[in-house]
Amino acid sequence: MHLYKNQSLKIYNSLSGEKEVFKPIHDGAIGMYVCGPTVYSNVHLGNVRTFMSFDVIYRYLLHLDYKVRYVRNITDAGHLTDDGNVENDRFVKQSKLEKLEPMEIVQKYSVDFRKVLDHFNFLPPTIEPTATGHIIEQIELTQKLIDLGFAYESNGSVYFDVAAYNEKGLNYGELSNRNIEELFANTRDLDGQAEKKNPQDFALWKSASPAHIMRWNSPWGDGFPGWHLECTAMSTKYLGETFDIHGGGMDLKFPHHECEIAQGKACNNVSPVNYWMHTNMLTMNGLRMSKSTGNYILPMELVSGQNTFFEKPFHPNIVRFCFLQAHYRSVLDISNDAMLASEKGFNRLMEAVKNLNEVTPQNQSSLDISKWKKECYDAMNDDFNSPILIAHLFEGVRFVNLLKDGSATLSASDYTDFKTTFETFIFDILGLQNTKDNAENADKVQGLVNMLIEMRNLARANKDFAMSDLIRNQLLELGIQLKDGKEGTSFSIQ
Ligand code: AMP
Ligand code: ZN
Repeated sequence: MHLYKNQSLKIYNSLSGEKEVFKPIHDGAIGMYVCGPTVYSNVHLGNVRTFMSFDVIYRYLLHLDYKVRYVRNITDAGHLTDDGNVENDRFVKQSKLEKLEPMEIVQKYSVDFRKVLDHFNFLPPTIEPTATGHIIEQIELTQKLIDLGFAYESNGSVYFDVAAYNEKGLNYGELSNRNIEELFANTRDLDGQAEKKNPQDFALWKSASPAHIMRWNSPWGDGFPGWHLECTAMSTKYLGETFDIHGGGMDLKFPHHECEIAQGKACNNVSPVNYWMHTNMLTMNGLRMSKSTGNYILPMELVSGQNTFFEKPFHPNIVRFCFLQAHYRSVLDISNDAMLASEKGFNRLMEAVKNLNEVTPQNQSSLDISKWKKECYDAMNDDFNSPILIAHLFEGVRFVNLLKDGSATLSASDYTDFKTTFETFIFDILGLQNTKDNAENADKVQGLVNMLIEMRNLARANKDFAMSDLIRNQLLELGIQLKDGKEGTSFSIQ
């Protein structure tokens, strides 16, 4: 059963500025590339929002029975600003700060990234390539651009020649709608300009100064690749010269994605991507979440409660539910109230999942399940509109309540259809997990262990050491370790 054949999926394409009916290049198979994290520090919650939007898009495409090759790279090398200053290489800078090798920085934060995504129940991409693993491809691409007259060498660095590209009528700036004069004004003051023919030219390969420890040999001397080049090299290698979907946060439109388009078109004479998708920003206190301004929270700080912004810890499920209540193209402001409201909503949804199991089907249906089901699909088919989908899922919660108190009925087949659809959208497509019972059980365990600690204290006060030891040892056998400290006894679960 190929569900996609019955659906008319529309995707908002940043390139055309319109919602377009999705037509994959190959029938039933999709290539999707999403710019991954730059692993020089921990990902913040804003990064998680962007990756989560694509996780749900990926999940929905899989649900429709598309075969998806989902490539999300790891940026672990490359200067990320357009100047050649070694101080601006974030990996080198961070490695000095932490007194670690640059590749230790890369490993540390790649591991952290995957851990965070596991906590938030992400599906892994099908390929997760790294920039350092594709240096040869990047050198080859640079050489090809030189050979085709789209790039030039200067002082051991190689730059993309934007003027040459435009002279061939290829229109640099089509995604961000910027004109050359504007670009000129914005890039005038950067270092490295002396080497360039024009200020808007961007680096494909950068010569490494002796202090630059992340370096590779190339036909132009020791150096390192430009940031934009890695995504063109890896997307072309794994998805082809033109592929279906390319995603990332809105802030990547310019210059990163603009440069990817230019590199792809210059190399292959075709537009590299059919649908450009950009997610909007997560804000906190009304300001964009970002490492550089200090206005950020780490995902695990929100989950553990170790922060000064939120009044309590929030399970990753609640964060996921909160994020998906906004459309991926809308700004989302995270706040304590928003998280509390999401927790309530999520618990209502899980309560309904539980109650639905207890409903007995009848001979006839008094609810229109096929209409409701269509509305759920229509929401996701309209540019993956998760907030509208969630509104329909709450209509489903209302159905469950009516079924539970006997004021509505479902036939056996409608019941199965409703239950399957309800659960598939919640768990498989939105990627939520039923942790409500787990959380309740955790509360109970906590209560029971605290009770045993009190009984042990009582036994010790009565000098009944056999009993106090018995309690401690039996708990230890269960993997619960008691720790006696100044402020009383605490416990940890292994
Ligand atoms: P970076 O590691 O900086 O390359 O960012 C990884 C991804 O997170 C990119 O797609 C960015 O566009 C995205 N991103 C960065 N800040 C935010 C934010 N505040 N909200 C949503 N996405 C963001
Ligand atoms: Zn990229």
